[in-house]
Amino acid sequence: MRNVKISVLSGKGGTGKTTVAVNLAKVIDNSLYADCDVEEPNGYLFLIPDITKEIPVKIKIPEIDYSKCTLCGDCVKACRFGALAHIGKRILVFDHLCHSCGACFEMCPHNAIIEKDKIIGGIRIGKSGSVDFIEGKLNIGEAIGVPILKEIKKIINSYNDKIVVVDSSPGTSCSVINSIDNSDMCILVTEPTPYGFHDLKLAVELVRSMNLPMAVVINKSGDEDEIIEKYCKEQDIDVLMKIPFKKEIAKAYSKGKLLVDFDKEIKDKFKQLSGQVMELIKR
Ligand code: SF4
Ligand code: SF4
Repeated sequence: MRNVKISVLSGKGGTGKTTVAVNLAKVIDNSLYADCDVEEPNGYLFLIPDITKEIPVKIKIPEIDYSKCTLCGDCVKACRFGALAHIGKRILVFDHLCHSCGACFEMCPHNAIIEKDKIIGGIRIGKSGSVDFIEGKLNIGEAIGVPILKEIKKIINSYNDKIVVVDSSPGTSCSVINSIDNSDMCILVTEPTPYGFHDLKLAVELVRSMNLPMAVVINKSGDEDEIIEKYCKEQDIDVLMKIPFKKEIAKAYSKGKLLVDFDKEIKDKFKQLSGQVMELIKR
């Protein structure tokens, strides 16, 4: 059977996206947690997986062969990402901007561009109790995480019959789009503050533009929830769960503890959330 994909995202960092993703993965039987927040993956801090495999992720970047290059500049014109520049008698390659699109290799009329491998990050695969674990990580200084996300997707596709919980990057960047595409359900995590509300609206716009189903979880829930609830009602989006703003929860988070391991009430809420999400997916 095919995997079911539940993506957890937020319009901004620090809203509790990873808290929701790891705890949700923990209460679901047969789950696979995929940390696609490749710039700052931290799901492992909570799940503490046994890592069984590490795979480097490489991209192809250009290297100029000056024995053949005539400095015609065609490669510079072909690069849509500003990764090449013609300065004096050199073609400079800004490899951190290279998207490995291959256009410059195609365009060079003198075969003066050599493909060179560059490791931009890696993927770790493992297991945390019954939860399968995959994590992508971009090396420090690298800017483009999409190739890592593509590799993660290939690995996820090698599994069958899993409930995949994707922990996306925060925001609405192309990394987020790549992480959440083809989701069976998107869970948008927000907090009842003006900033949270502003970023929730951006996330809703993004998910809606991708024509994906969505629901909301309010973290740090309290007296100000109405701001989120009113908006969700207007937008016809279900608010499926509220995580209360409590000192003990913040403490547990700071110590890297899973909420479902120490709070029975929260565990029941996450079980209820997983049931509701599966019901919505079946509709
Ligand atoms: S591979 Fe694409 S992105 Fe990279 S330098 Fe060549 S044209 Fe630019
Ligand atoms: S297209 Fe080829 S020959 Fe022209 S500048 Fe680029 S590397 Fe040199």
